[in-house]
Amino acid sequence: MHRRILAPGALAAASLLLAIPASAASSAPGAPGIGDPYYPQYGNGGYDVSHYDLRLQYQPKTDELQGTATILAKATQDLSSFDLDFLLDVSEVRVGGVKAAFTRSGEHELVVTPKTPLAKGTQVTVVVRYSGVPSTKSAYGFNTWHRTPDGAVAADEPEAAWWWFPSNDHPSDKATYDVSVAVPDGTQAISNGTLASTSSKLGWTRYNWRQDKPQATYLATLALGRFDITTSTSEGGVPVVNAYSKDLGANDGAARASVERTGELVDWLSGYFGPYPFSSAGGYVPNTTTGYALETQTRVYYSPKQFAAGSNTSVVVHELAHQWYGDDVSLKGWKDIWINEGFARYAQWLWSEHEGEGTTRELADYVYASHPADDPFWTVKPGDPGPDAQFDLAVYDRGALAVQALREKIGDDAFFALLKGWPKEHAYGNASVADFQKYAEQVSGKPLAALFDTWLFQPSKPEARGSASSARSLTAKAAQPKSWKKIEATNDVHAH
Ligand SMILES: [Zn+2]
Repeated sequence: MHRRILAPGALAAASLLLAIPASAASSAPGAPGIGDPYYPQYGNGGYDVSHYDLRLQYQPKTDELQGTATILAKATQDLSSFDLDFLLDVSEVRVGGVKAAFTRSGEHELVVTPKTPLAKGTQVTVVVRYSGVPSTKSAYGFNTWHRTPDGAVAADEPEAAWWWFPSNDHPSDKATYDVSVAVPDGTQAISNGTLASTSSKLGWTRYNWRQDKPQATYLATLALGRFDITTSTSEGGVPVVNAYSKDLGANDGAARASVERTGELVDWLSGYFGPYPFSSAGGYVPNTTTGYALETQTRVYYSPKQFAAGSNTSVVVHELAHQWYGDDVSLKGWKDIWINEGFARYAQWLWSEHEGEGTTRELADYVYASHPADDPFWTVKPGDPGPDAQFDLAVYDRGALAVQALREKIGDDAFFALLKGWPKEHAYGNASVADFQKYAEQVSGKPLAALFDTWLFQPSKPEARGSASSARSLTAKAAQPKSWKKIEATNDVHAH
């Protein structure tokens, strides 16, 4: 799916180095990127955020957003300055209560220079006052703030935060959130976690959302518009909050018939992945023209197009599976995307089997047989696909095939222990594909380097699939499982 980023930050970094004041010889500017090779400018170096407090006001008619972000962070080096990733217009920055200098750099960097340098280990409070019209701001030539007829939505991957709050925008720096948004009476504001309270004053209604578990910046979401909000509790005790645009037209019924299954599906997935990791679940369907869905933490974003061909529980299963694989345990770097997408796709296969529409083995056989050896599909390495192929179909289908190959290698007992153990092993943290291999070897007691290499890291079709099946017979014929069309309809879950 991805837009290629063409703006390396060497120049910006060089000019920052020149700005070190002599009095702060031991301090240095924080790096403008956190060090992700796929996106060198994303995130920032030198500090770690623990909490974002966002107090916002939004006018749907004009798309004007104003806000105050209070960021709690800790310096991880002696800092003369540090960056935040942000695109809106900033009027004031304070660090530890004291006004700080700030300037723009690169495509989306806000460079903050505190009055006195920050010593390594210092806990610091950064306040940023800002305003702007997000739909008018772009970086690298794109804008992911989605205007709707009655408001707007922030939900995209990897870039969404820049248009609504200043952040250390990389999944490796997770934090808790309080998001408080005032909108004109009659408009709703939807975000992650639990709706703590609402209040109304002088024609404005304020919604106070709380995410009390660590959350990656790209999983923070904001939806502003006219919604019908439904609440319930799953049989397993998980509170569910869903929201539907009042303007979904012909897709309204199918959207509700899918997303209202959230509680049931969260409970079903808990059987495979362990207890649901967050204090609430749910999804929302705004009236956007985009085609994808996104696993925004506790409150999944669904494009109405996901339901244009009728109800689809498979996409709901996919996004809810991410709550464990992606949200609870987040990737360390964007190269680790297989842990997100391979397992979310595999959850769809498990659901297919549960529904009697094709077993995981049948689906794996079908994927394997559907792509001849010279299909470019096999040139994508799900274990490190590169930024251009990060959301390629192969990351999903070959990724799930790798999961099935792992299952067949280590056996069901070890496999299902692994599936449930992983979210516990790295709860609310970050982990890499290498960490996953290590954990799988630990749980199964088997060396797995060759298997991981074959299925995730070789740019070619593995010679055979499964112990019981020969490559030749599989290539000759594998019947299309009944669930295939529905799963295929979710292929653009993250395609833009
Ligand atoms: Zn996904």
